[in-house]
Amino acid sequence: MGRLGAHVSAAGGVAKACERGAAIGCDALQVFVKNANAWRAKPLAESAIEAFRSARAVTPGPSVPAPLQVIAHASYLINLASAVPETAERSRDALVDELQRCDVLGIDALVVHPGAHVGQGEDKGLDAIARSLDEVFSRLPGGGVTLLLENTAGQGTVLGADLAHHGRLLAMLAEPARVGVCLDTCHAFAAGHDLRTANGYEALLSGADESFGLERVMAWHLNDSRHPLGSRKDRHANVGDGEIGLDGLARLIDDARFERLPMILETPLGDDEQGHARDLAKLRNLA
Ligand SMILES: [Zn+2]
Ligand SMILES: [Zn+2]
Repeated sequence: MGRLGAHVSAAGGVAKACERGAAIGCDALQVFVKNANAWRAKPLAESAIEAFRSARAVTPGPSVPAPLQVIAHASYLINLASAVPETAERSRDALVDELQRCDVLGIDALVVHPGAHVGQGEDKGLDAIARSLDEVFSRLPGGGVTLLLENTAGQGTVLGADLAHHGRLLAMLAEPARVGVCLDTCHAFAAGHDLRTANGYEALLSGADESFGLERVMAWHLNDSRHPLGSRKDRHANVGDGEIGLDGLARLIDDARFERLPMILETPLGDDEQGHARDLAKLRNLA
């Protein structure tokens, strides 16, 4: 089985995320390392870094020993494809900052959306992303944090719904070894991959393998989809309550090829805030 977990709040300090994850039965966590809706943030205090490292070191998951596996998700404001120099520069600065935060926290992977071309077209958008990533990595020589490019639903001018985009980006990079991929089940389904069937699932994986190699998949986002196949809409549903359904998600969590990978819920929490706890229980019951 994959390491089932959830995106948990880091409110009150990122160390609190470990407690929250443990309370709902996470074997892996995803966190924001700063406010995801702001460009800037104060540097992490030494005490916050220490608190996180110690909390993580002693927090096991229900099926794995401590330390918990933790990945981070970058701010939604970042657009590495932007043709507006100011936005592109802010995006690169923000990504450098987030990678540095991950580094000091000991988090070894950061998920980011590739970007939106906003009318300049796919080719120019992909070129801009590659140039941005090259600059980001050159500003962090030898950094140990892997950047995971997520697949997207393909809403608007967002790039990365087509897995060929990830392969093209990797081929353009000066340091492709610093980049992996995070696959999101809701986004893949919205982009036209029918994860309800074994054929649809295998087609997604063979597309990934052809484009960038399956070994580059280093994390999954485990979300059901509120909207139908191919809708190109990015709206997550609780597992089993959406259009993919529990059987489709079960195929992934049992896939031996992804046994040790974080599989992170980004599903609605609901009024009682227990959405992730319920989703984790449902998934574990399948095993
Ligand atoms: Zn996601
Ligand atoms: Zn999404």
